[in-house]
Amino acid sequence: MNPDTLAPWACDPRQTRGRRVPEAPSPPRNEHQRDRDRIVHSTAFRRLVYKTQVFINHEGDLFRTRLTHTLEVAQLARSAARALRLNEDLVEAIALAHDLGHTPFGHAGQDALHACMHAHGGFEHNLQSLRVVDHLEARYPSFDGLNLTLETRCGILKHCSRHNAERLAELELEGPAQRFIAGTQPSLEAQVVNLADELAYNAHDVDDGVRSGLITLEQLDALPLFERWHTQVLQDHPQLAAQPGRRALFETLRRMLSAQMNDLVASTQAAIARHAPADSAAVACCPPLAMLSPALHERTVALKCFLLDQLYRHPQVMRMTALGRTVVAELFQAYLEAPAEMAADYAAAADRPRAVADYIAGMTDRFAQREHQRLTGRRLFSS
Ligand code: MG
Repeated sequence: MNPDTLAPWACDPRQTRGRRVPEAPSPPRNEHQRDRDRIVHSTAFRRLVYKTQVFINHEGDLFRTRLTHTLEVAQLARSAARALRLNEDLVEAIALAHDLGHTPFGHAGQDALHACMHAHGGFEHNLQSLRVVDHLEARYPSFDGLNLTLETRCGILKHCSRHNAERLAELELEGPAQRFIAGTQPSLEAQVVNLADELAYNAHDVDDGVRSGLITLEQLDALPLFERWHTQVLQDHPQLAAQPGRRALFETLRRMLSAQMNDLVASTQAAIARHAPADSAAVACCPPLAMLSPALHERTVALKCFLLDQLYRHPQVMRMTALGRTVVAELFQAYLEAPAEMAADYAAAADRPRAVADYIAGMTDRFAQREHQRLTGRRLFSS
């Protein structure tokens, strides 16, 4: 990426607002490339490969995990960023870090941990992603965390309650939480990653859902977003209708995702032209600029609702996630009563409930299962 060709509303890596602990530059990398490299080398990033996206890790080798989801988000977001002349390196850093705070067992794990932490400030995976890169990674001699630039940290903090924002702002006045108090928008780079995240999981959850047998092509054909491309694929390649393979599904999803990404780029370009932000700082005061057209947005929401009803709440998925919830809740109780069972640096922490939450949130699915079995003597998952 050549910074001289960036759009005026892109975040220029030469004008970064810097790191909490100042560091000398590391040419030839720019500061956002350097953030990306630190994220890829982090322990939390490597753990994503064994964390649930929708299907628990051991349910099948071909389903998405947090890592493959993350890579798909980075790929989509970078393509859009290049077309929009945004900072691709920053987009990549935000995308690769966006799910670092996820617990084992997906959203069920997060819900269980949030319930356990009810009296101690709660637990939120998005806030946890920031906590991972700001505090929990322990790899550098003179600071905790990865000491990322403010732009990457702001992009990672996608949601934040007013209460949490005020708490964070007390510690860092001009930090990532500031915009949740001011009510302003994140950078265009962060906005593009957020949308790419949604488009990526809608498409890959359809793929994984069909692969698992929990949803069918017939059901999907009731959705205009899917049916349009499925019909076109079968017209262009009639031989696929009689084939048992999955090529028709793949080609349908490929066309659907391309159409969504092209729409995202065109609609975002039009929004930028309408609001004409003078520079990246002016983006904060515009309405959200990264968007789909209203028609495609509506169809995308319909797909999302379908997946929620038919896949994420499918009895078979719910059965597995209920087990995950039990594992997390029982681990929390066990470590709270016996902190010495945790790794030494967590066991010694002053704020025990938070240390337990951090420890559990960092676990992979299988490590959580093993620890649960070790501490309770019960084995909840069969494989
Ligand atoms: Mg995600």
